[in-house]
Amino acid sequence: MTVTTVEGPLDAAELGATLMHEHIYSLYSEYRNEYGWDEQAAVRTAVATMQDLRAAGIRTIVDMTVLGLGRSVARQRRIAELSGMQIVAATGIYTFGDLPNFWRNRSAHNPDFIADFFVRELTEGVGDTGVRPAVIKLVTDAQGITADGEVIARQVAKAQLRTNAVISTHSHSATRQGLAQQKILADHGVDLGSVVIGHAGDSTDLDYLTRLADAGSWLGMDRFGYAPAGSLEQRVDTVVAMCERGYASRMVLSHDTNIVSDSVPDEVRHSPELADWHYRCISDLVLPALRERGVSEADIEAMMVANPRAVLDRSS
Ligand SMILES: [Zn+2]
Repeated sequence: MTVTTVEGPLDAAELGATLMHEHIYSLYSEYRNEYGWDEQAAVRTAVATMQDLRAAGIRTIVDMTVLGLGRSVARQRRIAELSGMQIVAATGIYTFGDLPNFWRNRSAHNPDFIADFFVRELTEGVGDTGVRPAVIKLVTDAQGITADGEVIARQVAKAQLRTNAVISTHSHSATRQGLAQQKILADHGVDLGSVVIGHAGDSTDLDYLTRLADAGSWLGMDRFGYAPAGSLEQRVDTVVAMCERGYASRMVLSHDTNIVSDSVPDEVRHSPELADWHYRCISDLVLPALRERGVSEADIEAMMVANPRAVLDRSS
């Protein structure tokens, strides 16, 4: 019935059109601490970007920025308050392979340290902010599930079982890693209907995508505009093909974009290849393209509104 946003509980009916995997700022905090960060300017820019996105009809974004990506839920809340955008936060650890020593050495003393931490954030809030994330992020990449990755996945599963929060992943589609994520989560008792396989939309392999969906998970078609992992045309083609096969009820759409990402050098971020990787890409380019290709309004409504609501409303 309600979904937890950075401003508190929200009636799930108020979610509206929702982008399920975005980043407002994705920062290397240690670098930013000493090489420049104008917090007021950052908030101003983000508020303007979010207001512009609201003008395009988007009401909610899920900010998938977790520990390791410079998350600040206090900044997210400030941006939500000033812009009117509804923002859902995430907990999780961003690493493709190795656990940072902070986690490794604490887990050596308490094997459930990581799960306990996620549960604390989901139920009590982040630090003393009172802001509660609603999503647990699981990250694995081309390396597959490394030894440390397995530790994290097991802790993610434990936290999910204790809270019933949704799990949303970063996966490497070229090596069909979503299947490995499903396997380890299912092995630890997670209902795959509680899992969004993120970056599934990087794949054009319909067999892979239907397997993920048929196992019960949601498909994150969530990097529109990120051309290095698949052109806009390819991504639209894949969503159209999946809609034709009856999978509109299993897909969510997003960009995985950002205003600033320290993982992307400025000269790349502002290159022509990434010209469409912005918050308005879906509203301005993708939805018109889907309509032109014959995707029904009902399917668009499912992917933009009903599916995100079904994913985030954990009472249903
Ligand atoms: Zn992301």
